[in-house]
Amino acid sequence: MVNDLAKLRHYWQRLVVIAVVMAAWWQLPVTFCAVDLGMLRLVCPLGFLECCLSTKTVVTRLLPGFLLITGLVVVLGRAFCAWTCPARMAGKAADYLVSPALRGPTEKARSAVVRFRQRLHDSTKLSWSDGLALTAGLFLGIGLFSFPAYSIFCPVGVLSRNLIELATHFRLRWDLIFLGIPLAAGLLFALGWKCACPAGLILGVLAEGNRTLQPVVQSESCAMCGRCVKNCDFGVSLHKGEYDSFACSKCLKCLRDCERQAVRLKAWPRSDQKTRQ
Ligand code: SF4
Ligand code: SF4
Repeated sequence: MVNDLAKLRHYWQRLVVIAVVMAAWWQLPVTFCAVDLGMLRLVCPLGFLECCLSTKTVVTRLLPGFLLITGLVVVLGRAFCAWTCPARMAGKAADYLVSPALRGPTEKARSAVVRFRQRLHDSTKLSWSDGLALTAGLFLGIGLFSFPAYSIFCPVGVLSRNLIELATHFRLRWDLIFLGIPLAAGLLFALGWKCACPAGLILGVLAEGNRTLQPVVQSESCAMCGRCVKNCDFGVSLHKGEYDSFACSKCLKCLRDCERQAVRLKAWPRSDQKTRQ
């Protein structure tokens, strides 16, 4: 079951990329940022807030799609971040490709590079409060200058635009250089900046209402080894019964990594499980 879920995420990510490339090829209104279903436009919550702030109005055309996405986030939590975000996939792919070259030919050189990366990660790591401060500053700037600046740099938008350009005109856009920022962050800081993504933060705020599809530790099987929290990208202390719906991206690594198979995915966990409120 656990392996099936891990495989499902693996195939789902590839399926989404293929679907978006095919949509671009056939010029269908489907990207990683927005999906048009007739009159209904499903839009990234951050994009919706940017539009409203920069125009100083509630963009009613986008409101039904925003509310529908909000409902999905309440049910699925921040699953987009682990299951669909193309920037995360690109960062991990770049890390995977470059890592062997970075690690050097000898054991000594490899451990030196691993130590260097860890030090860099620890010294430059950004917390959720750093991310919230950055996002608040970003929103303030968008409101003051009436310009949705983040949409220019957003890695998801950059990837979507370039996939469309590649599929329709067989060329890439100049703004692909902006992708260097999250890729460098992914390579150098090994996801140390994961808490600074404004889109992830907005999804996290909406996911505070999530009470379904949560990983839960079966205390009778748990050895309290701490492996699940160590391997969790967001440090969720599941083994202590402290689920965090703001942070959890439903990546299911905790299910995969627990050697005692003590973590289960529950459709509707009992309310006596402690959650961050
Ligand atoms: S990895 Fe498994 S056994 Fe270890 S603390 Fe987490 S749930 Fe418990
Ligand atoms: S708690 Fe589990 S599912 Fe949630 S982010 Fe951490 S490892 Fe992934």
